[in-house]
Amino acid sequence: MSDPTCLFCKIVAGQIPAEVVHRTDDVLAFRDINPAAPTHILVIPIEHISSLAAAEDEHRELLGRIALAARDIAIEEGVSESGYRTVMNTGGDGGQSVHHLHLHLLGGRALSWPAG
Ligand code: AMP
Repeated sequence: MSDPTCLFCKIVAGQIPAEVVHRTDDVLAFRDINPAAPTHILVIPIEHISSLAAAEDEHRELLGRIALAARDIAIEEGVSESGYRTVMNTGGDGGQSVHHLHLHLLGGRALSWPAG
């Protein structure tokens, strides 16, 4: 359920510090260490799932909880009305650098599109 070599599993376990903004039994959210926007929060499953590509049908509800956690955090962060972006980078071409599924919540400034 957890990978001892995984950076985000270490954050879940409290072995690496993080500014946690939200925690439930199955979801954790913390501020990105290198923020790309005034609000930049990562929402992750407590369970180690390496990427969206590795998610199973049994994770359907968990993935919904991650999305709804982002919705609630956006309200708490004051970006819900101005708007925000949620991104799940997957694999090499997706730009994923940490191989523990995570949803980026970005807000607090106008974000350009399409992504680079
Ligand atoms: P990705 O490139 O989509 O895999 O996103 C990984 C994100 O994790 C990047 O935005 C990093 O800045 C962020 N990150 C890496 N290490 C940490 C850490 N120790 N605490 C918080 N965020 C981190």
